[in-house]
Amino acid sequence: MSEAVDRETYSAARVRALESLLIEKGLITGETVDKVLEFFEKDMGPFNGAKIVAKAWVDPEFKQRLLDDTPSAIAEMSFPRGMAGAEGEHMKAVANEPGVHNLIVCTMCSCYPWPVLGLPPYWFKDPTFRARAIREPRKVLQEFGLDIPESTEVRVWDTSAQIRWFVVPERPEGTEGWSEDQLAAVISPEAMQGAAKVVIPT
Ligand code: FE
Repeated sequence: MSEAVDRETYSAARVRALESLLIEKGLITGETVDKVLEFFEKDMGPFNGAKIVAKAWVDPEFKQRLLDDTPSAIAEMSFPRGMAGAEGEHMKAVANEPGVHNLIVCTMCSCYPWPVLGLPPYWFKDPTFRARAIREPRKVLQEFGLDIPESTEVRVWDTSAQIRWFVVPERPEGTEGWSEDQLAAVISPEAMQGAAKVVIPT
């Protein structure tokens, strides 16, 4: 854990230094970074993915369209703007189902479907995670607290600039009759990345 904290501190210091330099050189203003951050806090984030998954859970025909042609299905919904831009090109959904668990990784760098999942967490960019997710996905998932039985196939999807995958997790039992908003509230970014299951808070 301390290594992670150190890395976060180190990254934050680098970002501050870079931002100061860009402002000093007149390439950005003091507000630029805040505007970008606000965009990812309010418009482009995992709350979009959660809405999409919730709709897929209550509407099997939408789910099928989402799996067949992800951008077209997403375009049916009303999102603020830019769902197809900012790393949102060529998004593709894959669904967990009994006997199949999906995990996404970018082995090359950190490609991630920003409009539906937001910015990637630091561990998604970690070279160790990127290598091990391909080599020993079950073990990595176990370390995330997710025990996948041997009888379940684990499919690992390598996200890139050409295709950015995200996972439609399985709908948990006990959510029958829930509204899309209620469902969306329990769908985490980790679940849509394949690193967790959706659990109902007790
Ligand atoms: Fe990448």
